[in-house]
Amino acid sequence: MKLGIYIQVPFCQTKCTYCNFHTGVVSRDRYRPYAEAVCREISEYASLNAPTHGAAVDSVYLGGGTPSLLDPSALGNMIEALRQHYQFDPAEITLEADPETVTAENARAWIAAGFNRISLGSQSFDDAELRAAGRMHRRADIFQAVELLRAAGFRNISLDLIAGLAYQSDESWSESLSELLRLRPEHVSIYMLEIDEGSRLGKEALAGGTRYSAGAIPEEDAMAEFYESACARLAQAGYDHYEISNWGLPEKHSRHNLKYWLRAPYIGFGAGAHSFDGHKRWANIHDSARYVECIGQGISPREQIEDVTPEQALEEEFFLGLRRLDGIDLARIERDASAGLRNRIAELRNRITGMASQGLVEFDGARLRIAPDRLTVSNEVLVELLG
Ligand code: SF4
Repeated sequence: MKLGIYIQVPFCQTKCTYCNFHTGVVSRDRYRPYAEAVCREISEYASLNAPTHGAAVDSVYLGGGTPSLLDPSALGNMIEALRQHYQFDPAEITLEADPETVTAENARAWIAAGFNRISLGSQSFDDAELRAAGRMHRRADIFQAVELLRAAGFRNISLDLIAGLAYQSDESWSESLSELLRLRPEHVSIYMLEIDEGSRLGKEALAGGTRYSAGAIPEEDAMAEFYESACARLAQAGYDHYEISNWGLPEKHSRHNLKYWLRAPYIGFGAGAHSFDGHKRWANIHDSARYVECIGQGISPREQIEDVTPEQALEEEFFLGLRRLDGIDLARIERDASAGLRNRIAELRNRITGMASQGLVEFDGARLRIAPDRLTVSNEVLVELLG
């Protein structure tokens, strides 16, 4: 199977209230040295990625953070570095961009650098929700960004929405969905807000306070209804629901993200980037300043290198594969499993039979999937299954 490449750019203009990713607001002076370090990591460490070095790459994803903050020439240099070390003819090269960072000049430069897909962090079309979430952009920026991207030639744009932002109501959610559908992106992601205890919003939810509007977060039932209404309206509009949080027009499923759910190999570059070569998983150090230092001193930034055991691989097949609406081919997993895994699989099969009778999963004797009306509680279903 062909290889995916992920490049992490861990910088943002501000910190969203709900975010607990390893991203930081840093001086712009640090952008260029970071981009140069990534290029150097690609050049100097690509050869350590056996057995994937020199492999054919069919997807590249620059995520973050907000990679669109970097100068387009710096982004182009990263793509160029990849071209030199891999059989490079990817069908999909995605750049994550925040709406307020899209200008006509940037959009043209991104196309020239080789990007053919933009994942635009739209999140909501309601200014009160965007303001409370600490986002830099407003609804007008989303319309303008999509117009500029289309004018520059992008024919593959993904927009996302978050269900559960503070002040979200039935009306504002419905309005956000309508505006999104009006823009007709090729791909849509809908996330249910998860309140992480380490985020400012999470701390406020635990300790109390009003600064981040934790008290205005909708109830879980309301979030689930938002998600379900999105499922219905996106289906009606011709979008294929292919993963719990993702929908695409025909032929526009995200190739790169599919690799994660199918356990295909991908290599990550940059601070905090994760990799999986089919046998091992590893991550680079999270601290971006330390990452640049390591690369400058010729020290590998990799840590947490671990062999994936057959037991872990089996759990991953379920945990990741069941995020896809198609589910997993249990008959194939049973056929390929080593003798040491037979008992575990038999145990899972028993549990599946019980869960199918409760309507939590659907199983036709070969393919297993989470029941479509249980997708809002998919985490709980997975925990019960693998528990
Ligand atoms: S833009 Fe994304 S990565 Fe950056 S702070 Fe907001 S949610 Fe986190």
